[in-house]
Amino acid sequence: KVRVRFAPSPTGPLHLGGVRTALYDYLFAKNQGGEFVLRIEDTDTARYVEGAEEYIEEALEWCGIIPDESPKKGGKFAPYRQSERRDIYDKYTEQILKTDYAYIAFDTAEELDAIRAEYEAKGDVFSYDNKTRNRLKNSLSLSEEEVQKLLDAKTPYVVRFKMPVDRTLGLVDIIRGNTAVNTDTLDDKVLVKNDGMPTYHFANIIDDHEMEISHVIRGEEWLPSLGLHTLLYEAMGWEAPEFAHLSLILKPEGKGKLSKRDGDKFGFPVFPLNFTDPATGHVSKGYRESGYLPEAFINMVALLGWSPADDKEILSLEEMIKEFDLHKVHKAGARFSKEKSEWFNHQYIQKTSAEELMNILKNSESNLTIEDEKLLKIIHLMKERATFPKDIYENGKFFFEAPTSYDEKASKKAWNDETSALLTEFAENLNSINDFVSENIKQNLHDFAENKGLGMGKVMMPLRLALVGELKGPDVPDILELIGKEESIARISNAVN
Ligand code: GLU
Repeated sequence: KVRVRFAPSPTGPLHLGGVRTALYDYLFAKNQGGEFVLRIEDTDTARYVEGAEEYIEEALEWCGIIPDESPKKGGKFAPYRQSERRDIYDKYTEQILKTDYAYIAFDTAEELDAIRAEYEAKGDVFSYDNKTRNRLKNSLSLSEEEVQKLLDAKTPYVVRFKMPVDRTLGLVDIIRGNTAVNTDTLDDKVLVKNDGMPTYHFANIIDDHEMEISHVIRGEEWLPSLGLHTLLYEAMGWEAPEFAHLSLILKPEGKGKLSKRDGDKFGFPVFPLNFTDPATGHVSKGYRESGYLPEAFINMVALLGWSPADDKEILSLEEMIKEFDLHKVHKAGARFSKEKSEWFNHQYIQKTSAEELMNILKNSESNLTIEDEKLLKIIHLMKERATFPKDIYENGKFFFEAPTSYDEKASKKAWNDETSALLTEFAENLNSINDFVSENIKQNLHDFAENKGLGMGKVMMPLRLALVGELKGPDVPDILELIGKEESIARISNAVN
């Protein structure tokens, strides 16, 4: 059975890279008819950020990435928060200490700092590993009696992994293929801290085993840990899951990893939702609050590092599930593009019904008093040019309020000495139209221009200026219909005076 987990640490808001990992976890699980699990890896209490877990859950929900099992939902392997699984880890700490893959170490932080400084003074870097461990204070270098004495005296200790000497490990990654690492390049990582809590590495493999995870799909930053994790499975006598490491998301210029700070720096969101830093009060911008539709956001994220077979670009979550293939995930980093994000949103706005857009607008623009029927027509006219729902309102402000000024350049172009008289006469004409709808207005406008021996543009241009304040917007007859007879005439009279 395919079971995939997303295992974020609540150390801050989920960012684009995290969302992509969660999405690929989810797509792969669902494509395989498997289960998707959310597990919160919060053993590092020093890096815990208030509200981060809630943020992660809310963000996934907004994206439509719904876990089958999670801290909130529960499930047959609950609890799904590592801080609540201490007794499970204790049991396995005992187990690994009985093998030849782990030992206890008494070195204090001060002692290790001193050794590190010594190495640095010689221009070297200290590493607690299979070459140095015999000179340090641990159960491999001390006699059994010495160890017992320290334990009896309640001396704090950590549990370390005993990295084998000179073994070449073959590593298999679904995306990257086969690689190898020699154990002499790896250090003796701490598995259990002196407060008895496991570190990420140990808790992670225990939970992946306990929760019957079949595939680990995660960021490339964890690739260097794959050797250790492979050996931890060996030490515990467990079968390891399959691994797939996802490449980085790169800055728009294509060089370097897109960082959490790039959003503020470049003025585009790198988080799914707004996030308020509890320490500083600083608000980082989210896609949701910036007017992105979740479907557009998820579609954009999915294609950062994966392309479906026929290079199709617009895919619903359902289609993505159907087409997702880990073997088609790119090895190279994926470049983030703000323009592409906006392009996706524009595409999805076109696919969204006017009714739905109306609901979005009504929620965000509190002073929309216009009746629904009119608003729907305005949305139909304006959505083609909208990237965000608010564009419909902002680019269509003239539908809701009369212009208070007229664009100067446009006035020079559209207005001459005869314009006032011309428009005044046309306004009377408008007044005589009984059924004030676009086609009738258009016919009227046409006849008026013809009678005057003028081209349509000669009437249309100043008329547009009078109604809109500048030379933009949809067709003039459509604008006239939606503004209504009375208001149209009022705007014309305002403009000519
Ligand atoms: N807790 C790790 C993180 O925050 C999980 C890494 C993994 O998926 O193994 O990225």
